[in-house]
Amino acid sequence: MTDCLFCKMVTGAIKPDVVFEDANVLAFRDINPQAPVHILVIPKQHVATLNDLDNPALAGDLVLATLAIAKQEGLAEDGYRVNINCNKKGGQEVYHLHLHLLGGRQMTWPPG
Ligand code: AMP
Ligand code: ZN
Repeated sequence: MTDCLFCKMVTGAIKPDVVFEDANVLAFRDINPQAPVHILVIPKQHVATLNDLDNPALAGDLVLATLAIAKQEGLAEDGYRVNINCNKKGGQEVYHLHLHLLGGRQMTWPPG
């Protein structure tokens, strides 16, 4: 989608701080980090929200990439959080599916 911020990162029109890339997945550091490590993991194809994810292989790719990055970032042993905001009440602001990988500090529950 031409007017989608995260699609522009996939095409290279905008250059994020990339930490991982393969055929189907791109991951980059969040511009407004909420933890010492805050990475967004996105499908390269435009999927607007979690409600629109219907490809089991892509769902697996996203989750497996996220945990690989957690290990790469040294978060796996201490722990980390993976979060997906879906639509308005879920707090979604960018309508291209993304997994938030957060780590490097103690997380609290419940989330806001
Ligand atoms: P969400 O509220 O789940 O849609 O999260 C959107 C995330 O995208 C927020 O954490 C923003 O800080 C992040 N974000 C917005 N613009 C950029 C950008 N240009 N580069 C990296 N992260 C961004
Ligand atoms: Zn997009």
